[in-house]
Amino acid sequence: MITLFESSDHKVVVFRDLTPRGIVQTNQAVIVHRDASLLIDAGGRAVFQRLLAEIARVVPAPRISYIFFSHQDPDVLGAAASWYVSVPESRILLPAVWLRFLPHVFPPDVAIGERVVPIPDEGSTLDLAGCEIRFIPAHFLHSPGNFSAYDPCSRTLFSGDILASLPPPEEDRDFVEDFSTYLRYAEHFHRRYMASSKAVRAWLSRIEGLEIERVVPQHGPIIEGRDKVAAALEWLRELRCGVDLL
Ligand code: FE
Repeated sequence: MITLFESSDHKVVVFRDLTPRGIVQTNQAVIVHRDASLLIDAGGRAVFQRLLAEIARVVPAPRISYIFFSHQDPDVLGAAASWYVSVPESRILLPAVWLRFLPHVFPPDVAIGERVVPIPDEGSTLDLAGCEIRFIPAHFLHSPGNFSAYDPCSRTLFSGDILASLPPPEEDRDFVEDFSTYLRYAEHFHRRYMASSKAVRAWLSRIEGLEIERVVPQHGPIIEGRDKVAAALEWLRELRCGVDLL
């Protein structure tokens, strides 16, 4: 568990070490603001039990207010049904385009519109006890219905699969240290999983002007500090990927 930000009424914590060896590593994050909390990309079944136990160090699981799923992948919402049942007071936020597929994952009585709140294509904001979390469209990066989350209170961008990297466990670090090492494990992933440079640049223009101290992707090390964030965004701007390479 890594505390990325802490003030009198705001806390950001990332869990990086819950994934069993041999499967794709995933980061899970929690934002607590006053008496409200938001769990970001809770992860699949492989991390559910451990996260449920570990998260109590930050907020008791039954008190989690919101759970956000950036897109539909198994490593993002594979345990969604378990969260839905285990945290009955929570509201679940996810891209509207995935809503119709939910009955394949959630219990048959899933309360869409009440407990499950679709995020429209154009994005939305969430009032987290006074901290306005922004859900920023990141469609086709890689999922056709996909959002990044921005926390203005800690100036943290939760980028989902964008800027994710998949280093082998022995080379994984909590934070990006050497940028060329980071790129070695980010580049192939982006070339194959991200749709196109057009989609990348649309996202870059949407986040332009945000003050970003750190980027927390769903896989691999955290990009901490404005210089490193700027370098990573600059790399993305020039990236050719997906259909660009067909
Ligand atoms: Fe994904």
